[in-house]
Amino acid sequence: MTAAAAKLDVMVPLPGVVEQVTKETPDTFTLTVSRDEDSEQDVFQPGQFSMLWVFGVGELPISISGDPADRDKLVYTVRSVGKATHALVSQKPGTEIGIRGPFGTGWPMEAARGRDVIIIAGGIGLAPLRPAIYEVLRNRDRYGRLVVLYGARSPRELLYRKELAAWAQQPDTQVLVTVDYGGLGWHGHVGVVTTLFKYARLQPSKSVAMICGPEIMMRFVTRQLEEHGVTAANTYLSMERNMKCAAGFCGHCQYGPLFICKDGPVFPYTTIRPLLEKYEL
Ligand SMILES: Cc1cc2nc3c(=O)[nH]c(=O)nc-3n(C[C@H](O)[C@H](O)[C@H](O)COP(=O)(O)OP(=O)(O)OC[C@H]3O[C@@H](n4cnc5c(N)ncnc54)[C@H](O)[C@@H]3O)c2cc1C
Repeated sequence: MTAAAAKLDVMVPLPGVVEQVTKETPDTFTLTVSRDEDSEQDVFQPGQFSMLWVFGVGELPISISGDPADRDKLVYTVRSVGKATHALVSQKPGTEIGIRGPFGTGWPMEAARGRDVIIIAGGIGLAPLRPAIYEVLRNRDRYGRLVVLYGARSPRELLYRKELAAWAQQPDTQVLVTVDYGGLGWHGHVGVVTTLFKYARLQPSKSVAMICGPEIMMRFVTRQLEEHGVTAANTYLSMERNMKCAAGFCGHCQYGPLFICKDGPVFPYTTIRPLLEKYEL
Protein backbone atom coordinates (compact mmCIF):
# COMPACT_ATOMS: atom_id res chain seq x y z
CA MET A 1 0.00 0.00 0.00
CA THR A 2 1.33 3.47 -0.84
CA ALA A 3 1.83 6.03 1.94
CA ALA A 4 -1.03 8.09 0.49
CA ALA A 5 -3.40 5.08 0.51
CA ALA A 6 -2.38 4.25 4.07
CA LYS A 7 -3.21 7.82 5.08
CA LEU A 8 -6.59 7.63 3.36
CA ASP A 9 -7.40 4.46 5.26
CA VAL A 10 -7.60 6.32 8.56
CA MET A 11 -10.59 8.13 7.08
CA VAL A 12 -12.59 4.94 6.49
CA PRO A 13 -14.80 3.81 9.36
CA LEU A 14 -14.87 0.08 10.09
CA PRO A 15 -17.99 -1.56 11.48
CA GLY A 16 -18.53 -2.30 15.15
CA VAL A 17 -21.60 -3.73 16.85
CA VAL A 18 -22.96 -2.19 20.05
CA GLU A 19 -23.20 -5.11 22.48
CA GLN A 20 -24.21 -3.37 25.67
CA VAL A 21 -25.23 0.09 26.90
CA THR A 22 -24.90 0.63 30.65
CA LYS A 23 -26.23 3.67 32.46
CA GLU A 24 -23.53 5.31 34.62
CA THR A 25 -25.32 8.53 35.59
CA PRO A 26 -28.54 10.23 34.42
CA ASP A 27 -26.80 11.51 31.26
CA THR A 28 -23.77 9.26 30.86
CA PHE A 29 -23.64 5.74 29.44
CA THR A 30 -20.93 3.17 28.81
CA LEU A 31 -21.07 1.39 25.45
CA THR A 32 -19.39 -1.92 24.79
CA VAL A 33 -18.67 -2.42 21.11
CA SER A 34 -17.44 -5.63 19.51
CA ARG A 35 -15.15 -5.64 16.50
CA ASP A 36 -13.92 -8.12 13.94
CA GLU A 37 -11.64 -10.56 15.70
CA ASP A 38 -8.43 -9.51 13.99
CA SER A 39 -9.01 -5.79 13.98
CA GLU A 40 -6.01 -3.65 14.85
CA GLN A 41 -8.51 -1.14 16.21
CA ASP A 42 -8.68 -3.15 19.42
CA VAL A 43 -5.04 -2.38 20.21
CA PHE A 44 -4.87 1.02 21.85
CA GLN A 45 -2.82 3.02 24.30
CA PRO A 46 -4.56 4.31 27.44
CA GLY A 47 -5.63 7.88 26.61
CA GLN A 48 -6.28 7.36 22.89
CA PHE A 49 -9.65 8.00 21.27
CA SER A 50 -11.78 6.72 18.40
CA MET A 51 -13.96 8.56 15.93
CA LEU A 52 -17.42 7.00 16.21
CA TRP A 53 -19.93 7.25 13.38
CA VAL A 54 -23.59 7.14 14.23
CA PHE A 55 -24.95 6.49 10.76
CA GLY A 56 -27.31 9.19 9.57
CA VAL A 57 -26.34 11.50 12.43
CA GLY A 58 -22.63 12.24 12.47
CA GLU A 59 -19.19 11.40 13.72
CA LEU A 60 -17.59 12.36 17.02
CA PRO A 61 -14.38 11.80 19.00
CA ILE A 62 -14.77 9.59 22.07
CA SER A 63 -11.97 8.33 24.34
CA ILE A 64 -11.57 4.62 24.82
CA SER A 65 -12.46 3.94 28.45
CA GLY A 66 -12.00 0.16 28.63
CA ASP A 67 -9.16 -2.13 29.54
CA PRO A 68 -6.32 -2.08 26.98
CA ALA A 69 -5.66 -5.77 27.72
CA ASP A 70 -9.18 -6.74 26.69
CA ARG A 71 -8.84 -7.23 22.94
CA ASP A 72 -12.39 -8.54 22.40
CA LYS A 73 -14.17 -5.25 22.67
CA LEU A 74 -13.90 -1.48 22.72
CA VAL A 75 -15.52 0.44 25.57
CA TYR A 76 -16.62 4.08 25.52
CA THR A 77 -18.21 6.24 28.19
CA VAL A 78 -20.34 8.96 26.65
CA ARG A 79 -22.03 11.96 28.16
CA SER A 80 -25.10 13.01 26.21
CA VAL A 81 -24.64 16.74 25.56
CA GLY A 82 -25.99 17.18 22.02
CA LYS A 83 -27.27 15.53 18.87
CA ALA A 84 -24.47 13.04 18.15
CA THR A 85 -23.78 11.99 21.74
CA HIS A 86 -27.51 11.59 22.36
CA ALA A 87 -27.82 9.37 19.29
CA LEU A 88 -24.80 7.35 20.39
CA VAL A 89 -26.06 6.62 23.91
CA SER A 90 -29.49 5.76 22.46
CA GLN A 91 -28.11 2.94 20.29
CA LYS A 92 -29.75 -0.40 20.93
CA PRO A 93 -27.67 -3.56 21.37
CA GLY A 94 -27.11 -5.14 17.99
CA THR A 95 -26.86 -1.81 16.14
CA GLU A 96 -23.89 -1.19 13.88
CA ILE A 97 -21.76 1.93 14.25
CA GLY A 98 -18.60 3.02 12.40
CA ILE A 99 -15.23 3.29 14.11
CA ARG A 100 -12.06 5.07 13.00
CA GLY A 101 -8.85 5.06 14.96
CA PRO A 102 -7.50 4.65 17.58
CA PHE A 103 -6.02 8.13 17.30
CA GLY A 104 -3.75 10.42 19.24
CA THR A 105 -1.16 10.19 21.96
CA GLY A 106 -1.59 8.11 25.10
CA TRP A 107 -0.77 8.53 28.77
CA PRO A 108 2.96 8.09 29.55
CA MET A 109 2.72 4.55 30.91
CA GLU A 110 6.38 3.80 30.07
CA ALA A 111 7.72 7.03 31.61
CA ALA A 112 5.63 6.29 34.71
CA ARG A 113 7.27 2.90 35.32
CA GLY A 114 8.84 2.68 38.76
CA ARG A 115 7.13 5.89 39.82
CA ASP A 116 3.98 6.73 41.76
CA VAL A 117 1.03 7.51 39.49
CA ILE A 118 -1.28 10.37 40.44
CA ILE A 119 -4.54 10.35 38.48
CA ILE A 120 -6.65 13.49 38.73
CA ALA A 121 -10.03 13.55 37.01
CA GLY A 122 -13.00 15.86 36.80
CA GLY A 123 -16.41 14.58 35.63
CA ILE A 124 -16.30 12.63 32.35
CA GLY A 125 -12.49 13.12 32.47
CA LEU A 126 -12.27 9.87 34.42
CA ALA A 127 -13.21 7.97 31.24
CA PRO A 128 -9.94 8.49 29.32
CA LEU A 129 -7.98 7.88 32.53
CA ARG A 130 -9.64 4.56 33.38
CA PRO A 131 -7.47 2.55 30.94
CA ALA A 132 -4.36 3.96 32.68
CA ILE A 133 -5.76 2.84 36.05
CA TYR A 134 -6.41 -0.66 34.65
CA GLU A 135 -2.86 -0.74 33.30
CA VAL A 136 -1.31 0.22 36.65
CA LEU A 137 -3.47 -2.22 38.64
CA ARG A 138 -2.72 -5.11 36.28
CA ASN A 139 1.03 -4.43 36.40
CA ARG A 140 1.23 -3.52 40.06
CA ASP A 141 4.93 -4.34 40.43
CA ARG A 142 5.89 -1.96 37.60
CA TYR A 143 4.51 1.13 39.34
CA GLY A 144 4.69 2.73 42.76
CA ARG A 145 1.70 4.03 44.67
CA LEU A 146 -1.50 4.79 42.75
CA VAL A 147 -3.39 7.86 43.92
CA VAL A 148 -6.72 8.68 42.27
CA LEU A 149 -8.32 12.06 42.96
CA TYR A 150 -11.76 12.35 41.38
CA GLY A 151 -14.31 15.14 41.46
CA ALA A 152 -17.87 15.25 40.11
CA ARG A 153 -20.65 17.79 40.41
CA SER A 154 -22.88 15.64 42.62
CA PRO A 155 -22.99 12.07 43.95
CA ARG A 156 -25.37 10.99 41.19
CA GLU A 157 -22.86 12.18 38.58
CA LEU A 158 -20.04 9.96 39.83
CA LEU A 159 -18.85 7.49 37.20
CA TYR A 160 -17.82 3.89 37.89
CA ARG A 161 -18.90 3.96 41.55
CA LYS A 162 -18.39 0.25 42.15
CA GLU A 163 -14.98 0.31 40.52
CA LEU A 164 -13.89 3.33 42.55
CA ALA A 165 -14.69 1.34 45.70
CA ALA A 166 -12.89 -1.74 44.36
CA TRP A 167 -9.79 0.22 43.33
CA ALA A 168 -9.59 1.69 46.82
CA GLN A 169 -9.18 -1.86 48.18
CA GLN A 170 -6.13 -2.57 46.02
CA PRO A 171 -2.66 -2.59 47.61
CA ASP A 172 -0.75 0.69 47.67
CA THR A 173 -3.73 2.51 46.17
CA GLN A 174 -5.54 5.57 47.47
CA VAL A 175 -8.82 6.71 45.93
CA LEU A 176 -10.28 10.03 47.04
CA VAL A 177 -13.61 11.28 45.72
CA THR A 178 -15.27 14.65 46.13
CA VAL A 179 -18.42 16.32 44.86
CA ASP A 180 -19.29 19.99 44.42
CA TYR A 181 -22.71 19.53 46.03
CA GLY A 182 -23.23 16.64 48.42
CA GLY A 183 -26.83 16.79 49.50
CA LEU A 184 -28.55 14.55 52.00
CA GLY A 185 -27.07 11.10 52.32
CA TRP A 186 -23.59 12.05 51.10
CA HIS A 187 -20.97 11.60 53.80
CA GLY A 188 -17.89 12.02 51.62
CA HIS A 189 -15.78 15.03 50.70
CA VAL A 190 -17.44 18.17 49.37
CA GLY A 191 -15.49 20.72 47.32
CA VAL A 192 -13.54 20.97 44.10
CA VAL A 193 -11.00 18.28 43.27
CA THR A 194 -8.02 20.37 44.44
CA THR A 195 -9.40 20.23 48.01
CA LEU A 196 -8.42 16.54 48.01
CA PHE A 197 -4.71 17.32 47.85
CA LYS A 198 -4.49 17.72 51.61
CA TYR A 199 -5.63 14.10 52.10
CA ALA A 200 -3.53 12.59 49.32
CA ARG A 201 -0.49 10.49 50.24
CA LEU A 202 1.83 12.00 47.66
CA GLN A 203 5.53 11.46 47.08
CA PRO A 204 5.90 14.31 44.59
CA SER A 205 9.53 13.81 43.62
CA LYS A 206 8.88 10.25 42.47
CA SER A 207 5.49 10.79 40.85
CA VAL A 208 3.96 11.17 37.41
CA ALA A 209 0.62 13.00 37.28
CA MET A 210 -2.10 12.45 34.65
CA ILE A 211 -4.98 14.91 34.52
CA CYS A 212 -8.23 15.13 32.56
CA GLY A 213 -11.17 17.40 33.16
CA PRO A 214 -12.52 20.83 32.27
CA GLU A 215 -9.71 23.25 31.34
CA ILE A 216 -10.38 25.50 34.31
CA MET A 217 -9.98 22.50 36.62
CA MET A 218 -6.74 21.48 34.89
CA ARG A 219 -5.29 24.97 35.37
CA PHE A 220 -5.91 24.81 39.13
CA VAL A 221 -4.71 21.21 39.41
CA THR A 222 -1.42 21.89 37.59
CA ARG A 223 -0.82 24.83 39.93
CA GLN A 224 -1.43 22.63 43.00
CA LEU A 225 0.82 19.90 41.67
CA GLU A 226 3.64 22.38 41.17
CA GLU A 227 3.12 23.76 44.68
CA HIS A 228 3.36 20.20 46.01
CA GLY A 229 6.57 19.59 44.08
CA VAL A 230 5.40 17.50 41.12
CA THR A 231 7.40 18.98 38.25
CA ALA A 232 5.84 20.17 35.00
CA ALA A 233 7.99 17.58 33.21
CA ASN A 234 6.21 14.83 35.15
CA THR A 235 2.71 16.22 34.57
CA TYR A 236 0.54 15.25 31.60
CA LEU A 237 -2.93 16.35 30.63
CA SER A 238 -5.53 15.52 28.02
CA MET A 239 -7.07 18.31 25.96
CA GLU A 240 -10.38 18.43 24.07
CA ARG A 241 -11.27 20.40 20.98
CA ASN A 242 -13.95 19.85 18.36
CA MET A 243 -12.40 17.83 15.57
CA LYS A 244 -13.30 16.46 12.15
CA CYS A 245 -10.65 14.28 10.51
CA ALA A 246 -8.75 13.29 13.71
CA ALA A 247 -5.68 12.55 11.58
CA GLY A 248 -4.00 15.95 11.31
CA PHE A 249 -5.34 16.89 7.86
CA CYS A 250 -8.14 19.38 8.38
CA GLY A 251 -6.82 21.69 11.10
CA HIS A 252 -10.20 21.80 12.83
CA CYS A 253 -8.69 21.08 16.24
CA GLN A 254 -5.70 23.38 15.89
CA TYR A 255 -4.58 24.83 19.21
CA GLY A 256 -1.81 27.36 18.65
CA PRO A 257 0.85 25.44 16.71
CA LEU A 258 -0.53 22.05 17.82
CA PHE A 259 -3.20 19.74 16.46
CA ILE A 260 -5.05 18.18 19.37
CA CYS A 261 -5.88 15.08 17.31
CA LYS A 262 -2.34 14.03 16.39
CA ASP A 263 -0.02 15.94 18.77
CA GLY A 264 -2.45 15.13 21.62
CA PRO A 265 -4.92 14.68 23.15
CA VAL A 266 -2.40 13.78 25.88
CA PHE A 267 0.32 16.41 26.19
CA PRO A 268 3.21 16.94 28.57
CA TYR A 269 2.36 19.98 30.63
CA THR A 270 5.64 21.56 29.51
CA THR A 271 4.28 21.62 25.93
CA ILE A 272 0.77 22.83 26.66
CA ARG A 273 1.44 25.27 29.50
CA PRO A 274 2.09 28.38 27.36
CA LEU A 275 -1.19 27.76 25.50
CA LEU A 276 -3.23 26.80 28.54
CA GLU A 277 -2.25 30.06 30.17
CA LYS A 278 -3.78 31.99 27.23
CA TYR A 279 -7.47 31.68 28.14
CA GLU A 280 -8.92 32.85 24.83
CA LEU A 281 -7.09 30.73 22.23
C1 LIG B 1 -10.18 13.70 21.96
C2 LIG B 1 -11.58 13.81 22.50
C3 LIG B 1 -12.06 12.81 23.34
C4 LIG B 1 -13.36 12.87 23.84
N1 LIG B 1 -13.79 11.87 24.66
C5 LIG B 1 -15.05 11.92 25.11
C6 LIG B 1 -15.53 10.85 25.94
O1 LIG B 1 -14.81 9.89 26.26
N2 LIG B 1 -16.81 10.92 26.36
C7 LIG B 1 -17.63 11.98 26.02
O2 LIG B 1 -18.79 11.98 26.44
N3 LIG B 1 -17.20 13.00 25.27
C8 LIG B 1 -15.93 12.98 24.79
N4 LIG B 1 -15.51 14.00 23.98
C9 LIG B 1 -16.42 15.12 23.67
C10 LIG B 1 -17.41 14.70 22.58
O3 LIG B 1 -16.71 14.44 21.38
C11 LIG B 1 -18.41 15.85 22.38
O4 LIG B 1 -19.21 15.94 23.53
C12 LIG B 1 -19.30 15.57 21.18
O5 LIG B 1 -18.55 15.71 20.00
C13 LIG B 1 -20.47 16.53 21.17
O6 LIG B 1 -21.25 16.24 20.02
P1 LIG B 1 -22.83 16.43 20.06
O7 LIG B 1 -23.34 16.46 18.64
O8 LIG B 1 -23.46 15.46 20.97
O9 LIG B 1 -22.99 17.83 20.71
P2 LIG B 1 -23.03 19.25 20.00
O10 LIG B 1 -24.44 19.54 19.66
O11 LIG B 1 -21.98 19.34 18.95
O12 LIG B 1 -22.56 20.11 21.24
C14 LIG B 1 -23.29 20.10 22.46
C15 LIG B 1 -22.50 20.90 23.49
O13 LIG B 1 -21.23 20.25 23.74
C16 LIG B 1 -20.16 21.13 23.43
N5 LIG B 1 -19.11 20.37 22.75
C17 LIG B 1 -19.15 19.81 21.53
N6 LIG B 1 -18.01 19.17 21.27
C18 LIG B 1 -17.22 19.35 22.33
C19 LIG B 1 -15.90 18.96 22.65
N7 LIG B 1 -15.13 18.27 21.83
N8 LIG B 1 -15.43 19.33 23.85
C20 LIG B 1 -16.17 20.03 24.69
N9 LIG B 1 -17.40 20.44 24.45
C21 LIG B 1 -17.92 20.12 23.28
C22 LIG B 1 -20.74 22.18 22.49
O14 LIG B 1 -20.03 23.38 22.57
C23 LIG B 1 -22.15 22.30 23.03
O15 LIG B 1 -22.16 23.12 24.17
C24 LIG B 1 -14.20 13.97 23.49
C25 LIG B 1 -13.72 14.97 22.64
C26 LIG B 1 -12.43 14.90 22.16
C27 LIG B 1 -11.92 15.98 21.26
